[in-house]
Amino acid sequence: MQDCIFCKIIAGEIPSTQVYQDDFVVAFMDIKPVHLGHVLVVPRVHVETTLEMDATTLMRVTAAMQHVARGVVAATAADGWNLGANSGAAAGQVVFHAHWHIIPRFAGDGLKSWQDEEVTTEQLIEMGGKIRTELTGIL
Ligand code: 5GP
Ligand code: ZN
Repeated sequence: MQDCIFCKIIAGEIPSTQVYQDDFVVAFMDIKPVHLGHVLVVPRVHVETTLEMDATTLMRVTAAMQHVARGVVAATAADGWNLGANSGAAAGQVVFHAHWHIIPRFAGDGLKSWQDEEVTTEQLIEMGGKIRTELTGIL
C-alpha cells in the first residue's frame, strides 16, 4: 500500500534490521525499542489490525511470533517477554499496518509499557544479528 511505512520496509524500499521472514511474515527490530531486542512481527499483507487478518495469515503470524520470541529471549537472556498489539488510534496504534510487538523484559526493569530505551543503530544491528543467529538453531 502506498504511503505505508511497513509496506515500504517489507518491499525493501526503507531499510530495516530484519530477523525473520517467510512467505507470510517479516520480523524486524523496532527502531525505538522499549528494550533492546524489541521486535515487530508483521504480516506481508497490508491490513490495519489483527481483526482484518485472514485465518491463514493469523495462524502464520502466530507461529512466526512464537519462533521469533524464542530467538529474542535467547539473544537477550530476558527474564520474561511481552506480546502486544495496539489496535486503533485509541489503543495507541501509530502505524496502521497490523503488527505484534515482542518486548524482552528483565527482572526489576520497572515494567513501563511504552518507554523508549536509548539505543544506537549499531546496537540494533548487533542485536538483530544475535537474534538471527539464535533462530538458525531453533526449528
Ligand atoms: P504502534 O503502531 O504499535 O503503536 O507502534 C509502531 C511501532 O513501530 C513503534 O514501536 C515504532 O518505534 C515502530 N516504528 C515506527 N517507524 C518505524 C520504522 O521506520 N522502522 C522500524 N524498524 N520501526 C518503526
Ligand atoms: Zn502496509
